Amino acid sequence: MAYDPNNIFARILRGEIPCKKAFEDEFALAFHDINPQAPVHILVIPKGAYVSVDDFAAKASDAEIAGLIRAIGTVAKQAGVSVDGWRLLSNIGTNGHQEVPHLHFHIFGGKKLGHMLP
Ligand code: C5P
Repeated sequence: MAYDPNNIFARILRGEIPCKKAFEDEFALAFHDINPQAPVHILVIPKGAYVSVDDFAAKASDAEIAGLIRAIGTVAKQAGVSVDGWRLLSNIGTNGHQEVPHLHFHIFGGKKLGHMLP
């Protein structure tokens, strides 16, 4: 799938649409999901234009990949979910029910989560 530069997360990155920011550095932006599914529900996105993990793994630099993973760890720690545990999820493509075509990881936590089944 080609990257659409006008997808909603690209617009958030450009500051055209507001978000409730949780974290930002040179590689990543994290913000609270507008429709939270858990007491903590934060999205972490790379600053680069990547549709999904597949695209990111194929095209991103090692620095971008490390930066995004480090940002996820930092956000989880800052959100206070690291002690009791949390979940990291990325929906990919049609079968994965990906709604926004800019790579994003969901951080869920703040309660005992249900078992994850396909
Ligand atoms: O299914 P997918 O992983 O693509 O989910 C996209 C997520 O982005 C949804 O959880 C939705 O609530 C969130 N979202 C958001 N802010 C927007 C648009 C979507 O937090 N402006």
